[in-house]
Amino acid sequence: MASLIKLFPTRREFFGLLGSVSAFAASQGLVAPEIAASATPLPSPSSALPIKNRTPLAPSAFNFLPCGAVRPAGWLLEQLKIQANGLSGHLDETWPDVGPNSGWLGGTGESWERGPYFLDGLVPLAWLLDDERLKAKAMRFIDWTLDNQAPSGMFGPSTNNDWWPRIVMLKALTQYHEFTGDPRVIPAMQKYFQLQLDELPKRPLRDWGKFRWQDELLSILWLYNRTGSSSLIDLARQLHAQGHDWMAEYANFQYTQRITAEFIRLDAGNGLSDLALATHGVNNGQAVKTGPVWSLVSGSPVDRSAALKMVTELEKFHGLPNGMFSCDEHLAGLNPSQGSELCTVVEYMFSLEHALAITGEASFGDRLERLAFNALPGTFTDDMWAHQYNQEPNQIECSLHRNPWTTDGPESNLYGLEPNFGCCTANFHQGWPKFTASLFMFSAAQDRRQQDGLVAAAYAPCEVRTVLNDIAIHLVEETSYPFHGSIRIRVNPASPTRFPLKLRIPAWASGARIAINDQPVPDPAPSTFAGIDRVWRSGDQVEITFPMKPRTSRWFHDSIAIERGPLLFSYGIGESWVKLRDRGMTADWQVFPTNQWNYALAIDPDSPEMEIAVEEKEIGSVPFARRLAPVSMKVRARKVDDWRSEDGAANPPPQSPVRSTLPEEVLTLIPYAAGKLRVSAFPLLKKDP
Ligand SMILES: [Zn+2]
Repeated sequence: MASLIKLFPTRREFFGLLGSVSAFAASQGLVAPEIAASATPLPSPSSALPIKNRTPLAPSAFNFLPCGAVRPAGWLLEQLKIQANGLSGHLDETWPDVGPNSGWLGGTGESWERGPYFLDGLVPLAWLLDDERLKAKAMRFIDWTLDNQAPSGMFGPSTNNDWWPRIVMLKALTQYHEFTGDPRVIPAMQKYFQLQLDELPKRPLRDWGKFRWQDELLSILWLYNRTGSSSLIDLARQLHAQGHDWMAEYANFQYTQRITAEFIRLDAGNGLSDLALATHGVNNGQAVKTGPVWSLVSGSPVDRSAALKMVTELEKFHGLPNGMFSCDEHLAGLNPSQGSELCTVVEYMFSLEHALAITGEASFGDRLERLAFNALPGTFTDDMWAHQYNQEPNQIECSLHRNPWTTDGPESNLYGLEPNFGCCTANFHQGWPKFTASLFMFSAAQDRRQQDGLVAAAYAPCEVRTVLNDIAIHLVEETSYPFHGSIRIRVNPASPTRFPLKLRIPAWASGARIAINDQPVPDPAPSTFAGIDRVWRSGDQVEITFPMKPRTSRWFHDSIAIERGPLLFSYGIGESWVKLRDRGMTADWQVFPTNQWNYALAIDPDSPEMEIAVEEKEIGSVPFARRLAPVSMKVRARKVDDWRSEDGAANPPPQSPVRSTLPEEVLTLIPYAAGKLRVSAFPLLKKDP
């Protein structure tokens, strides 16, 4: 074992470099000290140091690196720029709900969740891109919120005292503080939490706040880790006592069928009865983090493992091939023509990011990638100026129709500004930026013999700048994953230093290989984190090669889906886009099929690689675009005459295997997200028709 030789800079020396300039100024880009080894900026203090859980909180398996430590590169950077150039970067210019009259800017307009939702994604997007125009947009809301806090501690529009939208704004404020170190944030949060501690006994959580209390817990524990104020633990316990008991709901899960409006008595309760809220898609997406986050307070291993139980139940009774559970907008069963709401996609991703960090369970990373690389981009137009409310794995038409939604309206799968309802318009912005921030995490040493380390939790091109064991670390991940299977991570510590680097090996990656400086390491096991504990020197390279053979998975009525790496592949139906109406700077669109889509696949599900031809290309300027799809497949298929559509929705795939005497054709499959009309769950042809 090589001895640790600390050359330069140590953490103290590194801060010395910054001199007397405040953390806030540094993070605003007013100082940019250079690191000799990589000739790139050192992290600012607010983004350098990972924060560990403070006692008596239980330790997390991994901790998030502070916002700004992980930055997008390669295709992911292009994707974030597309988002910034699309609706995210212009929403306030064209949608009054977050425009100049927003209640969160002191106006008389929308004064509930939409301003905070927007900020929850705009803040990380703006700072990850270091985009001054977007930062200025975000600062208007941040400044108004921080500068207009009431003497009582209440913040936000005075016309509305609902706890729920403030839960969202707290998430935006904690990210903003990590990016900037703005000294106003922590006192404002302390004042607000003290008010809530006093008020909750008299004015308890209700409806949305009652079912989403675990998201406030994140901000409370964030503050506790910085101040150590024991009253915050008291507040956490109050929220737990008043909030919905998600662990109990899933310990004996009853909602195993498609939920109907009649079942939840939608008319009587205005959608806000406990039954409606307990079966609501977005609430369930947010709920997945509840057990792990609460386990930090309770210390209970049962609470910690509750997330795996939750996702297992959701997948068993409502799981879809794109990684989502159905929710349109209540839990909707296994038919791949049911939809999933965009809010649920981004909230489920956020829950999985926290579940992965706290539990260290590798399969949460698999699930996170499945959402990020399929369901998330699949529900936007390529330019991210229009999105759906509901997306379907078997989405054969996007038009005004009533079916097949459980409780949603006829515009639900249109691509537009605010199809069906505007929550997703305000909330979608967090998806890509928070995924970026979660790519690498921090593993705290559990005892004196260990060192703090880094964890590759999910894979996409990025750069990391942080400080480990007093040494500045710069890490570069170069890859065109998920389209292709090789990943190179260059490790550049400021001086040679020992630390563990943990690499997530997905469940599908049997046969993955890892090499360090061209020297292979023992084969890593799927569904684990492969740990490499060594002295790292600047220029060291880790090469990961994932097997990218096509695979199959089984779904509703024994239908079959084709996967490769974390990508789902779909038949891209011909699309005719018809504008329904202009919507300010964007528009609402219907999409109609231009050809038939009712194919069954002729493959052997146990060895699909024998019959599927894969073609790889370079990633284009829009990574998930149908034009120039970076990877495609050819597969044999036949049409199935009696698989039809009704009211714009494909009927469930007929029970496999099916027979067909129609001519054999060769279908081209493309990444799920590339086909805005698509079939993803196919019937399987009987071998001898
Ligand atoms: Zn929504």
